Amino acid sequence: MNPRTRRSLRFRLTTVYASLLAVALLLYAGCVSVFFLHSLREQLDLSLDRDVEAVESMLTSSPTGQIKPDSEEGEAHEGKFRQGFLLEAWSSVGSLLYRSEALEGQPLGSAPVVAAGLSPEPPRSFRLPSGLRVRALSRVHHLSNGDPVLVRLAVSEESLWQEFWEMSTALGIMLPLILFGVVITGYLVAAKALKPVDSMAKRAAEITAEQLHERLKIDNPDDELGQLGVAFNTTLARLENSFDQLRRFTADASHELRTPLTAIWSVGEVSLHKPGDQKYYRDIIGSMLEETSRLTKLVDSLLTMSRADAGRVQPHLTETRLFDLATESANLLEVLAEEKQQTLRVEGDETVTAMADRTILRQALINLIDNAVKYSPARGEIRVRVTNNEGFPYIEVQDSGPGIPPEHRERIFERFYRVDKARTRAEGGSGLGLSIAQWAVSINKGSIEVQCEPGPGSVFRIRLPKASAATSATIH
Ligand code: ADP
Repeated sequence: MNPRTRRSLRFRLTTVYASLLAVALLLYAGCVSVFFLHSLREQLDLSLDRDVEAVESMLTSSPTGQIKPDSEEGEAHEGKFRQGFLLEAWSSVGSLLYRSEALEGQPLGSAPVVAAGLSPEPPRSFRLPSGLRVRALSRVHHLSNGDPVLVRLAVSEESLWQEFWEMSTALGIMLPLILFGVVITGYLVAAKALKPVDSMAKRAAEITAEQLHERLKIDNPDDELGQLGVAFNTTLARLENSFDQLRRFTADASHELRTPLTAIWSVGEVSLHKPGDQKYYRDIIGSMLEETSRLTKLVDSLLTMSRADAGRVQPHLTETRLFDLATESANLLEVLAEEKQQTLRVEGDETVTAMADRTILRQALINLIDNAVKYSPARGEIRVRVTNNEGFPYIEVQDSGPGIPPEHRERIFERFYRVDKARTRAEGGSGLGLSIAQWAVSINKGSIEVQCEPGPGSVFRIRLPKASAATSATIH
């Protein structure tokens, strides 16, 4: 991974994390402040409530109708009136009966609306014209003579606000510190968590095509990064396998191509230095053409394999009569069988059908019958049998050749694998016939296996998928 991208991933993780945390802390601080202010005001309202009661108990009206603090209690509270209690009393006709000196003439609100009688106002906070922040509460009080008065009592909110600001300042200092601490820790944790990616990336960058056997070191295969490493190692193993196959294939293919080319070259070279008659040259040309035909077959097989490997072949599945296909393939090889005076017979159930790509499946059958002819002795017998077993269509190619020894049966479908190298090359085999047959069957969703009963001869059996009754389209 590019270090810049990696840095930015770590940076992005931390930024997202920090932003979310900052929002959460801000919300938290906001909520705490609102609740704190609310609870401070509640306490203030409670104490105001008590104070209003105290104030009510000491209000009496003077003969002039004015109101003043009275009684001993009143005298005792006079000091308080001056310092903290800010009091106003309004008559039921809307005239001011009393205002504390401490208010210095500033009103605690406008004159009450008296049309519907005096009624208490809800507690409220506001600033006096002097700038003092106060909390005011009001009550309708009945004087000893029964007259109702509206009593407004206010106290300064300055100490409340001071407490509030102290708490806000503490939050304002603590939260950025917490945020900073958490972000730094988060950044370090992200750096530590991404460290294995760093070492994996470095190691991966060191692995070249020549070192595909190397693997990433995985500390903890169970965590997410470990799983990524395991997946990468698995891919490397597959890649190594593919590279090995490719190397082997190229080496084998070069070797196979070289053999007929060397033969053509030596025959040509010898004939150049050796004078001869027309028959001699005809034989030489004939032998060269034989090698060229072998070369062409080999190149065709290589092309088929390479197209198969590239996955470019798309089978065109149609419902196919297997007996007809087997007869058609056998007819193509009839001449070769006749040359060896062999009997080549197609038998079995003529009605069996399968969903298959005719052309590709025919290639498999031709390769199997070709082998059967090649490896069966002169006057031998070859049977191609079409059957249906439990709904599955089968095609078997049975020969009277030498059979395949058990230790080779697993490997004969590998590319360029031959049981007896010298003999099969002499027979003109390239070692690709069965690989192509296996590919052709598997692309038709079938399977192929070899069976060798005790005694001479072998049976290659192709099993195909059931032809669906619904797809009774064109039958070929
Ligand atoms: P080739 O072109 O050499 O025949 P194949 O891939 O068709 O290559 O076959 C691989 C090897 O399997 C052959 O070289 C041969 O040794 C063996 N083989 C294939 N078919 C038969 C058979 N019918 N009888 C005996 N041996 C066979």
